[in-house]
Amino acid sequence: MSSPKESALAWISNNNERLIEISNKIWEFAELGLIEFKSSALLADELKKHGFRVKRGIAGMPTAFVATWGEGKPTVGIMGEYDALPGLSQKKVPRKEPLEPDKPGHGCGHNIHGTSGMAAAIATKIAIEQANIKGTLKFFGTPAEENFSGKVFMVRDGCFSDVDAVISHHPDDMNCADLRSSLAVNSVKFHFYGKASHAGGSPEQGRSALDAVELMNTGVNYLREHVIQDARIHYVIEKGGDQPNIVPSYARSWYYVRAPERHDLEFIYDWILDIAKGAATMTRTEVKAEFMEGTYNVIPNRTIAELIIKNMSEIGLPEYNKEDLEFAEEIAKTITRETKIAQLRKTKRPGWETLVDKLIDEEIPRPWGEGETMHGSTDVADVSWQVPAVEFGTATWVLGTPAHSWQAVAQSGVGLGHKSLLLAAKVMATTAVDLLTNEGFLKKAQEEQRQRLADRAYESPIPPDHKPPLDIWKG
Ligand SMILES: [Zn+2]
Repeated sequence: MSSPKESALAWISNNNERLIEISNKIWEFAELGLIEFKSSALLADELKKHGFRVKRGIAGMPTAFVATWGEGKPTVGIMGEYDALPGLSQKKVPRKEPLEPDKPGHGCGHNIHGTSGMAAAIATKIAIEQANIKGTLKFFGTPAEENFSGKVFMVRDGCFSDVDAVISHHPDDMNCADLRSSLAVNSVKFHFYGKASHAGGSPEQGRSALDAVELMNTGVNYLREHVIQDARIHYVIEKGGDQPNIVPSYARSWYYVRAPERHDLEFIYDWILDIAKGAATMTRTEVKAEFMEGTYNVIPNRTIAELIIKNMSEIGLPEYNKEDLEFAEEIAKTITRETKIAQLRKTKRPGWETLVDKLIDEEIPRPWGEGETMHGSTDVADVSWQVPAVEFGTATWVLGTPAHSWQAVAQSGVGLGHKSLLLAAKVMATTAVDLLTNEGFLKKAQEEQRQRLADRAYESPIPPDHKPPLDIWKG
């Protein structure tokens, strides 16, 4: 009889066509955060078909769900995302060519994220059922990673309170389970209310909300000198008026503020709120700050990261065929050497220089980056404050591919992406089997998490009555 891990691996290999089909369907749906109706239903239905108990509409989000199998302790979780990004529609070709102009596309490969997690959950279930392993397996369908941090709502509502460890996979240009943290973030919109008037005939009657937006931005740009090096502040003007001969009575900006820890972030955030009030005072307008969402910084976990790398090494990296490599070569031509070097250097992976002349990552490096921070944010962070949680990457894209690019969309829908999906599913399933069957791993991972938290308490970054912005895409 085969071992639990062998059963899990065999299930993934035997079902590869179905798994690729699901990933491709989600790639085609390309649904934005909180309205991933077809994508989440596809994953949830598949899990249900395999005997999971599925609870939909979690934490106030119709597209969030939890699929559970088994009972008792330990409880191991696997997460999957399935939201796309606006404006990134792209055909499965190695040149920039939208499928439908201005429509969303899977620029972060979340079609693979959701499918690899679902596949791993089913494969793990098959393995533990066959070997009569005790414990509970949960798949978390987590919407809106890209903009509204669905996991933060799920954490606030206690979805992860009975879980012992959580793993997830993210498409990447590298194979990695690194130890870098991420930046905590707050997202906030500023609504300025002024008074309309004829900009030529009676400007003295008007109070320009757009002036307030511009003065606020100027104030914030002066603030930049006085924030820590790792902080990030970025904004867009969502609404600046209608036409020049009307003094804008309403204008709106949208800000992200990021910093390595919540206390750094809150210091900067409070200052920005003051600047907004100052801009309103200067322009005799009114301002309302609308908090959108926030996340923490990631608490890494070496114990689980090492386990993931060990399992990935035992499984081995995929082999690419001629078609895969030709596609990869064409994509690589669209990424300049400077971009590639900058992308690789930023990862701080030891020996990144040796990858500059490589097309695809053919190594499985040991976890690196202890004490380092990557300058993006993720809602996996909030889960990592509850339980040991690791999100690892597999090479889905040629080296140097930036995420959120048309290149990432194209590659997430073809052979390179499919192979990365199957590998990731296998890595997660074998790691989940390890966590369910070896109490030592879980204990060590939990002890490590406790040490890293160093008695810091988690306080949800979103207020208790704050709801996911379900109507956000309605205009
Ligand atoms: Zn992503």
